[in-house]
Amino acid sequence: MSKQIKVIKGMHDILPEQMQYWHFLESTVRELLSVYCFNEIRFPVIEKSELFCRTIGEVTDIVEKEMYSFEDRGGDKLSLRPEGTAGCVRAGIENGLLYHQIQKLWYMGPMFRRERPQKGRYRQFHQIGVEVYGLEGPDIDAELIVMTYRLWQKLGLSQNIELQINTLGTLEERNQYKEKLVEYFNANYEQLDEDSQRRLLKNPMRILDSKNQNMRNLIDNSPKLLDYLGEASTEHFNGLKKILDQIGIEYQINPQLVRGLDYYSNTVFEWVTHDLGTQGTVCAGGRYNTLVQQLGGKSTPAVGFAMGMERLISLIEDSQLEVQVEFPDIYMLLVGDNANQQGAVVADEIRQKGHAIKVLMNCGGGSFKSQFKKADKCGAQYAIIISDDEIAQQSVSIKPLRGQGDQFSVGRDELIIKLNELFKRKN
Ligand code: ATP
Ligand code: MG
Repeated sequence: MSKQIKVIKGMHDILPEQMQYWHFLESTVRELLSVYCFNEIRFPVIEKSELFCRTIGEVTDIVEKEMYSFEDRGGDKLSLRPEGTAGCVRAGIENGLLYHQIQKLWYMGPMFRRERPQKGRYRQFHQIGVEVYGLEGPDIDAELIVMTYRLWQKLGLSQNIELQINTLGTLEERNQYKEKLVEYFNANYEQLDEDSQRRLLKNPMRILDSKNQNMRNLIDNSPKLLDYLGEASTEHFNGLKKILDQIGIEYQINPQLVRGLDYYSNTVFEWVTHDLGTQGTVCAGGRYNTLVQQLGGKSTPAVGFAMGMERLISLIEDSQLEVQVEFPDIYMLLVGDNANQQGAVVADEIRQKGHAIKVLMNCGGGSFKSQFKKADKCGAQYAIIISDDEIAQQSVSIKPLRGQGDQFSVGRDELIIKLNELFKRKN
């Protein structure tokens, strides 16, 4: 026997039995985003590596060690996208969507990061991302946060997810603050782990993002950026908090929330759950006013977030919420040679003219008894039984499978009307 080829480490097949949860998440998100007037955008899963290096930042885990990069035959350095914001900005600039306009965009799809796989952390995972361009006030930051809160409610998860917010101020404010931070960490240099010692030189604020518990105390006592903010940044942050307060959305201000990516300024936020162990962040985002310009566009304010779909699915699966399972509406039994031949014609007619009626036709023959077993097992509401007699009489028999009355016969010419009626679908 040939050696079996297995899926790549950290990557997953999503099986039909899980699809109900994915569809539930996807359709709920689509509906909500349309209520908030967002438009979908799709862009490639591969981009030039430089795009991610320039946006995400050279001294981030993603760019340093997590990207799937390769050289194209022509020598171009390419990477599988580790996140969506960079590609979205690239597409926005290239297609003239960003200059002097307001854009409310969203996307959904696979992202790739070569991380150490664990529950809730995969090498191919899926995100739903939302980005707004051309608006600089805290009102839109708040709208994004309110929208995600409403999403948790619709998904039945609002009890389990908490909001953390912070502000990163402007670049100048951060630079001032960074000096104080470096002073502080230098004074406590021996307590920093190797990663943090390296970051101290290149990007000291990322030390605050460290997940090393041994450094918890040190980080907790470090200088706070909030104390170095100017008037405009403070006002922006207060504006955001005021709207959240008005709507009644609870939040924690977390001064250590600096986000793993370099491009943020002012508002940053994360929705975190305790139900998924250490991979608790299900949605994260913030404002990134300098990124468009950094990628060669005209200066454009921007704010966005991304949610991890696998982590949300995991919460949905664990919750008691009843998610609609999809069954066929009809199982079609075909008994006899003529019936076996004509069955395809009847099934085709129902699928074409019925109002989204799902027909599972028995293929491959079999006795009435074995076909009926399959009909019962598949979860359909009705069986349609066609034998050679029925073909001769131009009729079919309909048998309720879930105990709603007796079997009855319907002429072929009335079949579609009758089925639409049975399934309460419009004729
Ligand atoms: P984390 O701190 O968990 O590593 P991150 O800051 O790297 O997250 P972002 O780049 O902000 O994550 O991505 C947004 C969301 O995408 C995360 O909050 C998470 O829900 C999800 N996500 C990120 N990386 C992975 C992964 N490797 N596997 C599954 N989901 C992920
Ligand atoms: Mg990460």
